[in-house]
Order: sequence, then structure tokens, then C-alpha cells
Amino acid sequence: MHKGIAVSPGVVVGVVHRVESVFGSGEPVGLHDRAMIPAEIERFDRAVKLSSDELHAIVQKVGQELGEAEAAIFRTHMTIVQDQGLLAKVRALIETQSLTALSGLQMVLQDYAATFARHEHEFFRERLADIRDVISRIGSHLSLSPVPAPAPASIGEEPGPNGDDPVILVAHEILPSQAMSLGTLPIAGIVTETGGGTSHVAILSRSRGIPAVSGCVGISADVRSGDTIIVDGRDGVVLVRPDPETIAAYRKMQREFFNLKDRLVSNRDQPAASADGVPVELLANINNLSDAHSAVQVGAAGVGLFRTEYLFLTHQDVPDEEEQYEHYRQMIAASPTRAVTIRTLDLGGDKTVPYLGRRNEANPFMGWRSIRLSFEHPRLFERQIRAILRAGKHGKVNMLFPMITTLEELRHVNKLVEESRRNLRREGVPFGEDVKTGVMVEVPAAAVCIDALLRETDFISIGSNDLIQYLVAADRDNAKVAHLCEPLSPAIFKVLHMVLDACRRTGTPVTVCGEMAGQPRSVLVLFGMGLRRFSMSPAFVPTIKAVLNAVTTAQAERFAHQVLQLKTSEEIRSYLNARLHEVSSDLEMFDFT
Ligand code: PEP
Ligand code: MG
Repeated sequence: MHKGIAVSPGVVVGVVHRVESVFGSGEPVGLHDRAMIPAEIERFDRAVKLSSDELHAIVQKVGQELGEAEAAIFRTHMTIVQDQGLLAKVRALIETQSLTALSGLQMVLQDYAATFARHEHEFFRERLADIRDVISRIGSHLSLSPVPAPAPASIGEEPGPNGDDPVILVAHEILPSQAMSLGTLPIAGIVTETGGGTSHVAILSRSRGIPAVSGCVGISADVRSGDTIIVDGRDGVVLVRPDPETIAAYRKMQREFFNLKDRLVSNRDQPAASADGVPVELLANINNLSDAHSAVQVGAAGVGLFRTEYLFLTHQDVPDEEEQYEHYRQMIAASPTRAVTIRTLDLGGDKTVPYLGRRNEANPFMGWRSIRLSFEHPRLFERQIRAILRAGKHGKVNMLFPMITTLEELRHVNKLVEESRRNLRREGVPFGEDVKTGVMVEVPAAAVCIDALLRETDFISIGSNDLIQYLVAADRDNAKVAHLCEPLSPAIFKVLHMVLDACRRTGTPVTVCGEMAGQPRSVLVLFGMGLRRFSMSPAFVPTIKAVLNAVTTAQAERFAHQVLQLKTSEEIRSYLNARLHEVSSDLEMFDFT
């Protein structure tokens, strides 16, 4: 049994499919047969060619869109991908040691790392970062080129006998770009060694309703593709090669989970309201078109958070204004009631794209991310603001700014939006005149100075994922400090109470769009504190509707009042466990963390 962090609820029994990583800590992998060597070299050469073509296109586009200085990084990468010495080393390892191309790349990278480690100088560290980037680019093409595909199975389907068992991905780490391509694979569970409850892979697995466990240290070394495995995403347990009795017990639980889920989806046309009839808005967090479709299926009232960075993450180079406009327009058309809150670029931290600078900060989450990065790239930022304003013609659109820390930043952003409106008007380009602008409250400084911000913004959205990590000074993706990133804690509830109260006093519309908004125990408290707008992964909408249907306002207010008196997370947790049980024991299955 392995214990990790529960990041997406549900239970699944399935077979392991290991995702190998270029930078994985695993032993070198050999080819089964020396006869495979020529084909493996060919596969490697193809991956190099694809990487080289890709870099060529990036140099052109980044040069035009961002400037020559930014493109210079990729010129360096072009020289690395064409470096015959490096390529020859990998080919030699495949040939002489029968290694897979991926393992060959990994060994060459280790070689360079060992050589460069002897140099203190920043220059060598940067060269190593470049080599690592290029190797990872080639590696990602290799891992996408034909490797044995997981056995087909559909998510949510009742598992059949062993051969048809659903596929469970086991990986050291899943990168954002890989996570996006998961959308096309028939995956029923995910287990990773790294990451925490709000990492991108956690968010993506929740949006697809796939049980997942992160921070499961040592799991990669313990499993092989084809092993039977159980993922219990409610309390973060993974069972490897379990005995038949355990499998039978978990299969039963899995059936119950899916049955309950199906039953809940049938509440899509019921009103979203508390037991005493107070209406609430249940909105969806979406990253792509398939999330927008899920949002419609579960009966969400609109989209409370559209994370635009996934467009940038999956794009080879910088998407221009027209591409963005078209993408946003499609997203609005596909979303429930065409009501969409579009968040401007929130890259950096755990989500990086090579064309916006290299990743060598000591503290990326505290560094050059999100709105700070947009401010540094004014042309890029302007293009996004214009694209969102233009898309505003096609629905009820809000524009949301992430990571606002100071009033100066808010004023600057407001000025930029005003300028873009003026320019569009002058150019005669149609745009949505009634697009509202809002601030994400996810930095403690913004929460503390909330009154000043509320005077100069139309609405706010509380990003509890980041707010928690910054409040407790614990990286949300670091499994070692995951116990501190705890939503059910006195400090978090005190801050949320303060912000919600300020919004109530000023009549400012407020949403919570962090993962708390999809967690039944937190929702009981937030509703009791007066929150009426919740934005969550589409998969959680039916559950949260059922939770709110089962509680009265007076009850929830009492819970919130009581929680604010409690001193420790443990007290809050056990208090809320009892309350959730009281309100609806069925729904305990859907809570996690
Ligand atoms: C948050 O921080 O709570 C949030 C919703 O944004 P993200 O998870 O994309 O950082
Ligand atoms: Mg955030």
C-alpha cells in the first residue's frame, strides 16, 4: 500500500500504464532485441527532425511577436538540436548498449550535468538549462511516437474481467503539456510521485472526473505496466497487486461510486438552491472545449473561470490576436448560457512555455509569474485584452486578472483595458461594451487590502488554491508540505470570512473559484459565510448541488459561525465531517483532501 495525497475523488481498479519520463529517476531501459536498433535510431532521428522544425517555426514567430531578444534563446536551442556531437552520443548508446532512445538521451543529459556541475559560473548553468530544454523537447516527441498504447477502456465504464480493466497512469511527474494530451487517452486513474492537490494534473484529472493520487513517493519503482492496481482518490491510497478479496471489495465501491455519480447527474435540471430555497450559482472552471461541453452536461449556470494558459501551453508559439479571439469565441459559444469569465494569462509557477523566457528562478511561485509576466510583455498582454474584449460581443463575458497584489497593479490593468477599448473604438473594431473586469484574490496582500481593491473593480474571484499556498508559505505542488496546504484551517476561513464580509458590505459580486468550491465540507462553510457563487471542475457540480439542496441557510450559518471559533484544522475537520454526515451521508464519498 502506498499513501499519497488525495487529489481527485473516486475509486478505480485497473491496470498500470507507466509513463516514462526523460528526466525520470529510473534505471536505463534496454531494447528487448538488438534487431530493434535500426528502427530505434530512425525513431530518434525523426524526433530530432520534428524538434528542429518546431524550433525553426518558434524562432520565426517569437521574433515577430515578441522581439529578437526573446527569439535568441531558441536560436541557441536550434544549434543544440543540430549539434552532431550530442546526437552521435545518443546514437552510439542505442547502438552499442541497446538502449532505448529515451534512455540514451537521459544518459547524455546526465553526462552534461556532471560535466557542468564542476563549473560554478552562471553561464554553464544556463547552457545546461538549454540542453535540458532541447533534450526534453526531443524526448516529448519520442514519447508521443508509437509506443504500445494502453488497452482501450472507457472512463466510468463498469470494469469487465481483467483484460478489459481500465488503464491507470503511473508517472513520476506529468508535465502540463503531457497532461493536456491525456484528454485523448482512455484513462481511468492517475498516480504521480510529485505534485499536490492543486497542481495542473490534479486540476485536469478532477475536470475529467478521474480518481487521482499525487505525492505517492516510490510508486514508480514498485509497479510495472500491466500490474493490477487500486486507486482510492478519497483518501489518497494506492494498492499495488492487491489480493482477490480486496479487488472484489473495491470493485463494489467503484460500482457504488459510479451509480451515485449517475444518479447525481440526473439533478442537472433541478434548481441550484439551498433546502430553504436560497438560490446559488454553480459555475464551471474550464480549460478547453471538452470542459465546456462537460459544463453544459452537468447543468452549470455558466463558466466562472476559463484558464486561458492552456491555449498557450498547447500552442507551438505565441497565439496571435486573431487566434485567441477565435478560440475565446468558440469557448463562449460552447459554454452554458454563454456566460464566461475569461482569465488573462496565468503562466509561470508550475506552468511554463519556452517562448516566454527560461525557467531558472529559485522560487518560481514567488517570482515572475501570472500578471507580472503579462506586464513584462505589454504587446502580448494588449493582444490578449483586445481578443477578450472582441470576444465579449458573443456572450456575457467578464475579464479576470490573476495574482493582483497591489492597488497600483489594479490601476495599471484598468488603464490598459481602457486604452484597448479606446483603440478598438478608434479602429472601428466591434467589441463587447459591457465586458466587466475583476480581480482574483489569491495573494494575501490583496485579501488584507480588499477594501481598497473593491472600490476600483467590478467583481472579485477568490483563488483559494494560491491564497492558501501563499498564506501558509507552502508550495502547493510540494508533497512534503502538502499537510500545510489545507483548506479546512482556521487561518484560511478567517481570511475568507474577512473578504466575503467586505464584498457583502460593498455589494461586490464575488465567486470562489479555487478547488474549495467543489469540496462538500468547505462549501457548507462558504455558503454559511454568505457566498452564493461557486466555480468548480464541472465533474463536481452535481455533488455540490446535492450538498446545498440538503442544507438550510440557518444550518450553514451556524456551521460557519462554529468553524470560526475552532483553533485547529483537526477540530475543523472532525466538526465538518460530522456536519456533512448529518446533512447527507451519501455525499461523503465525494469529499477529498
Ligand atoms: C486558484 O489559485 O485558486 C485558482 C483558481 O487558480 P489556479 O489554480 O489556476 O492557480
Ligand atoms: Mg491561482
